[in-house]
Amino acid sequence: MIHQDKINASLQRFAARHGLASAGDVKFRAALIDMDGTLYDSMGHHTLAWHRMMLDLGIATDRDRFYLFEGMTGKATINLLFREYLHRDATDAEVAEHYHRKTVYFNEMPPVKPMSGAAQLLSALQASGITCVLVTGSGQRSLIDRLQRDFPGIFSPDMIITAADVEHGKPDPEPYLKAMERAGVSPSQAIVIENAPLGVRAGARSGAFTVGLTTGPVPVEALECEGADIVLPSMEALAGAAASFIN
Ligand code: CA
Repeated sequence: MIHQDKINASLQRFAARHGLASAGDVKFRAALIDMDGTLYDSMGHHTLAWHRMMLDLGIATDRDRFYLFEGMTGKATINLLFREYLHRDATDAEVAEHYHRKTVYFNEMPPVKPMSGAAQLLSALQASGITCVLVTGSGQRSLIDRLQRDFPGIFSPDMIITAADVEHGKPDPEPYLKAMERAGVSPSQAIVIENAPLGVRAGARSGAFTVGLTTGPVPVEALECEGADIVLPSMEALAGAAASFIN
């Protein structure tokens, strides 16, 4: 348990924030889990698909920039790019057209793999009676539909929050607050598992204990400064430390 001291300190700070006496009083009842770059090793595909979509518009972007947009809905990402490069919002028809093309490019690549350690973590959470809720800004059905196959019996259909369920996507806390509502828990009973700066910001703003995972090129500091309670290097590391969060 190489991360044990760090985890205990972060739980202690979280307990204090919620008016609990000690880390031992923290009882998580729901885990609110992001999908891309967390449950699936899919961010390389996503950044490449976005990059290619922009090339079609004659605009060469830095592919790694898309890791910083991660978590936003497709519509929000396209509007951000349109404002920057074309100095206007995209129309609804343009959003639909470009997001469709980005999705086609994503699906043309070889299937992505579940993140190593993800199944192990989910099983441990479920065995401890913790409700698992998926919270994604994605609207791509290809991965959402695979969840039941790759992680059977973990996510009930009503415990899946996608871009279609929220008015304001990440970094707004709405997706995570909605997930807590569905699971019937308060922020002091919720743990958020994220890999992207904007996703961590959404989790931290929701009041949940927010775990940041550095599964891509984004550095530890970028997740810390968005309010992560703790940053771990991988899903495997979190799975290995799961017992520390479950009591
Ligand atoms: Ca993510």
